[in-house]
Amino acid sequence: MSTTAAAHDPSAARSNGHFSKHDASHRPHPIEDVFSTDVYTERAMQQRLPKDVFKKLQRTIKQGERLDPELADVVASAMKDWALERGASHYTHWFQPLTGQTAEKHDAFMVPDGHGGALSEFTGSALVQGEPDASSFPSGGLRATFEARGYTAWDCTSPVFINRSGGSATLCIPTAFVSWTGEALDKKTPLLRSMEALGEQALRVLKIFGTDANVSRVMATVGAEQEYFLIDREYYFQRPDLITCDRSIFGAKPPKHQQLEDHYFGAIPSRVLAYMSECERDLYRLGVPVKTRHNEVAPCQFELAPLFETANIACDHQMLVMETLKRVAPRHGLQCILHEKPFAGINGSGKHLNWSMSTDTGVNLLDPRDETHTNMQFLVCLCAVIRAVDLHADLLRASVASANNDHRLGANEAPPAIMSIFLGDMLSDIVDQLEAGTPKSTLKGGKLDLGARTLPQIPRHTGDRNRTSPFAFTGNKFEFRAVGSSASVAWPATVLNTIVAESLDFVATELEKSVGPKANEAKLQQVVRALLQKIVKQHKRVIFNGDGYDKAWHDEAAKRGLLNHRDSVRALSVISAKKNIDLFKKYKVLNKVEVESREHIFIEKYVKQVLIEAEMGVLIGRTQILPAAIRQQSELAEVVAATEAADVDATDARAHLEQFASEVNRLRIAIAKLDEITSEHATDAHEHAAHIRDKVRPALADLREVVDSLEVQISSDLWPLPTYREILLIK
Ligand SMILES: [Mg+2]
Repeated sequence: MSTTAAAHDPSAARSNGHFSKHDASHRPHPIEDVFSTDVYTERAMQQRLPKDVFKKLQRTIKQGERLDPELADVVASAMKDWALERGASHYTHWFQPLTGQTAEKHDAFMVPDGHGGALSEFTGSALVQGEPDASSFPSGGLRATFEARGYTAWDCTSPVFINRSGGSATLCIPTAFVSWTGEALDKKTPLLRSMEALGEQALRVLKIFGTDANVSRVMATVGAEQEYFLIDREYYFQRPDLITCDRSIFGAKPPKHQQLEDHYFGAIPSRVLAYMSECERDLYRLGVPVKTRHNEVAPCQFELAPLFETANIACDHQMLVMETLKRVAPRHGLQCILHEKPFAGINGSGKHLNWSMSTDTGVNLLDPRDETHTNMQFLVCLCAVIRAVDLHADLLRASVASANNDHRLGANEAPPAIMSIFLGDMLSDIVDQLEAGTPKSTLKGGKLDLGARTLPQIPRHTGDRNRTSPFAFTGNKFEFRAVGSSASVAWPATVLNTIVAESLDFVATELEKSVGPKANEAKLQQVVRALLQKIVKQHKRVIFNGDGYDKAWHDEAAKRGLLNHRDSVRALSVISAKKNIDLFKKYKVLNKVEVESREHIFIEKYVKQVLIEAEMGVLIGRTQILPAAIRQQSELAEVVAATEAADVDATDARAHLEQFASEVNRLRIAIAKLDEITSEHATDAHEHAAHIRDKVRPALADLREVVDSLEVQISSDLWPLPTYREILLIK
């Protein structure tokens, strides 16, 4: 057996010591002692700040008032003391450029004292504003490359925290990132703007219903479930495709994968559980309310889900979740893969974005409550969302488009690319009643008798769940299920907030107009019913409760005139359509150049990602697969020669050799074709992206087909890569 083969022998990985080292039981600290210990919480601020400063800062944080610059020095100094006590030596403005990752540049608290010593310092201006060199972040034409200046500005609505990594502790200050001219170069700034737009319009609706007492803000809330793969790190390092592309571009389907459905919700392997516990401990320290963990459908696939939070904080926390999952894995001999489709033939990973709206007094505007048909405010919010999804399905689809997610959306594991809404039986029934005029009843679920006296009767929901819908109402929120597992949720949340803000604006304007200044309850009810009837009639085509995987739905959706942008190039190209530029502009979320820059950046990213994959395909094909195939061919040729020399009939061996040699030729041709097509270039970004979609991706798929076919023909001691069979069945 060659050394390569021995290195990816599963038994070698099992005995590599990770189990004994990391499976040791630990006594967890009570959650109260751990949660938010590395977060500069409201309580920590209250303990450290003068009363009046604390109050003013809280008004900024909670009511969105502008921060008084005079306070900054006091706030910064207290924050520094808190951070130093926790071992921090540096601080950083932590921001989210359009790369989809987070960015940080550390500065030490240390300043020379002028007498040969040093002391620690952190000024208000260093807290409030930073100036990283912006020239190497994608700007999508927002500025020329020689214009390097960019600013970061403290977002005090998301708590400051301490990041611990590599034995070092760093004070992280969540910030917005803008260009010298003030254009948003990040994901946070438009998200914050969209939250303001949504809050403003939602408040108008509350005022109409007279439910705005004590409410000063309405906020979007988000909870993002994260799916991910964990594989043994030893295998990871032997797969250049996984290292470079975060997904395998070759790999034959193993005999056993997910067909027995024995992984989903199965007992969590002990090494993985140890890993999950450590991730949770780290995330608790950062105040991230992770709640649920389980095995997912595909082998080696898992999920983590948090409780919902204010959208801005949830999006920051989501970035921390991804970072933590990645960072902790090596300590357990594991590699965490966040890619949407790391392995072909088995399920990929998504990130369900749970979304709702909530007042600062704690009322969830998407809670239907018991007698839903009487809950007109809820029905207004519901219909506003239905209208928003129907009118802006293009943007919603675009918000989840990426080269990665193209492997997933539309395959029979993830929702289709058609943006439809699942409402369930109870709400669908009420929507039907609204369409007919006056809703008179709410369907009840009743009880489920399980037949055994020892088992309790359990309440039953009015309808089943639907896993195939991209946008589903799930009890008291919507679940946007088309988001990719490696994506930041900030952009889809920004789009959702903006399109719903537009719908709430429409509804509020219509109602204010019709109700008039002397509204009474009866008049209001009548006007609301009439408006909702109109909305349902116009937009009910977007509601679909059936099987989203079914081909019949795709035909039906086309008849209803619903968009079906199957690939990202098509989907992304609508971002800067006039309708969308106008929409973002009207609600002050993005101006025209900011919208256009996003389309440009996302298209460019698509191109670059697929090109990297194609180049890796050519490289691995030429330097690993082809040499292995040639060795196999030469062995087969030797067999034919030796058999014939021994004067034994070699007909079968010769036929085998001929067949194999023709496969090797196919491989050569496929590599050469991919190489050639990859080097072809169009100057226009959209044309280039279309070339990548129409030519490069199919050529890579063709190469994969040949390679995967060779994988099951070539001797395992010659095959240069760990196989799916080995990678995916390791616990
Ligand atoms: Mg899941």
